[in-house]
Amino acid sequence: MDVTSCSVPVSTRAPGGTTNSYLLGTDPAVLVDPAAGADALDRLVRERDVAHVFVTHTHPDHVGAVADYAVETGASVWARTGRTDRFREATGCDPDRTFSPGSTVELGTDRVRILDAPGHAPDHVAFEAGRNGPIVCGDCAVREGSVVVGAPEGDMRAYVTTLRRLRALDPPRLLPGHGPVIETPRATLERLLAHRSDRERRVLEAVDDGATSLEEILERAYEKDLTGVRDLARATVRAHLEKLDVEGQLAWTGERAHSD
Ligand SMILES: [Zn+2]
Repeated sequence: MDVTSCSVPVSTRAPGGTTNSYLLGTDPAVLVDPAAGADALDRLVRERDVAHVFVTHTHPDHVGAVADYAVETGASVWARTGRTDRFREATGCDPDRTFSPGSTVELGTDRVRILDAPGHAPDHVAFEAGRNGPIVCGDCAVREGSVVVGAPEGDMRAYVTTLRRLRALDPPRLLPGHGPVIETPRATLERLLAHRSDRERRVLEAVDDGATSLEEILERAYEKDLTGVRDLARATVRAHLEKLDVEGQLAWTGERAHSD
């Protein structure tokens, strides 16, 4: 299946100030994550018969031009089953159809499979382009650095499961929402899993050493200067604490943590 990427500049908070939109197939084609209108994306859309518009999740830096391209192409706009209210709020667009993880959408003689991929956002899905093809993974993975998984929007337990699921699928490439294509998915997913387990160990150690408040745990779990990203780090630590609490490794009340 033909897969084309188009980096578009977005005005909302996004890593690097750009988001990758994708076109899967040509005639018919799926437009994924139309984050903003852009000349290059306009051209790609005009060259194809766009029959469907999908989003990986409904964060503002992924959905800014859903309504515009829906009107321009006349394509069917899809939302995740059970998340249509959230979709409508984020896009200003009424979904025509809904999909559930595990289902497929036929695209000529080929197909796109919808994969469950929660963690970064509760409604997050990924798209497998063709049988055993590359996976459009939205904000599940990036080639450099890591993605935000912060409570209450993010769910660390779900995120780790999603990373493992993607690793098991072992796609030839991962096509992320931000930054360059991931040519070595297995190595990148291993790196992201190691990053999470390392942070989790630090959070657990901080609590074992007597830290109880979010701020105390934050201070001990991060070595780097958090200027400018303190809110994201705080939400991340909260997500780790929620995961560890569910798994019975410590107790977290939402205010205070203590060892079990
Ligand atoms: Zn996002």
